Amino acid sequence: MPIIEYESQRQSFNEDEVIEQFAELIRRSEKAKTNQNLRSVIAKLEENIRDNEKYIIKMFLVNNRTGSMINSDNAPNVSFRVDTINNIFDSIVDSLRGLGLSGEQTAEVFFRAGVKCGESFGQTFDRYAEMYLDVNTTDEKISEWCMFDSSVGWGKLSYDPAAHTVSITNNFQTKTCDGASEPPRDCDFFKGYVSGVMSVISPRDKDCRAVCAGECPKKTECRECVFAFDSGKERKL
Ligand SMILES: [Zn+2]
Repeated sequence: MPIIEYESQRQSFNEDEVIEQFAELIRRSEKAKTNQNLRSVIAKLEENIRDNEKYIIKMFLVNNRTGSMINSDNAPNVSFRVDTINNIFDSIVDSLRGLGLSGEQTAEVFFRAGVKCGESFGQTFDRYAEMYLDVNTTDEKISEWCMFDSSVGWGKLSYDPAAHTVSITNNFQTKTCDGASEPPRDCDFFKGYVSGVMSVISPRDKDCRAVCAGECPKKTECRECVFAFDSGKERKL
């Protein structure tokens, strides 16, 4: 089976091959005493099928005794419906505005939340890249990160090395949410997140602040928002 020949045979699989690989995964996991092998195989499988435009299988392991779920990078994960996470965001926005914060201040709260998440994930990704990915340059690492974060439903992140910009399409925050009127959701959380990740994984972008390059197409589903980076720009509330 190709599962054991990844290093020498990098390839994209067609649908039948993916199903065949998956069956082999299940067979091996049933035999194994731990999940470690399965985790690494899942990571490898995702890596090999990511160029398949038709679909990508994203797998998580769920412990049916504890109810915990882990990703291929061995980190505990949680899955929300888009409605659920956007209702959380919208409710926080309503509360902050109700407490007297301006729209700009509210946006900064989400920007900072994104920075915190991004810095933390950037450190995790740095370690992950060192252990599992074959990257030689910062540009390659940024591209790998965009690919990694494009497989969990947040949207599609892409890196343009020539322009040194990161763009996002299909941002989950711009999706229509059950029961919401017109939420002031746009790219503030993502701008913070991208700033945080880039500050950690890209030396030239330390303490950067992502800004919408050109016109930011707010509140439009499937839009593309392009982020450029202002280095050393002060973050203030
Ligand atoms: Zn934007």
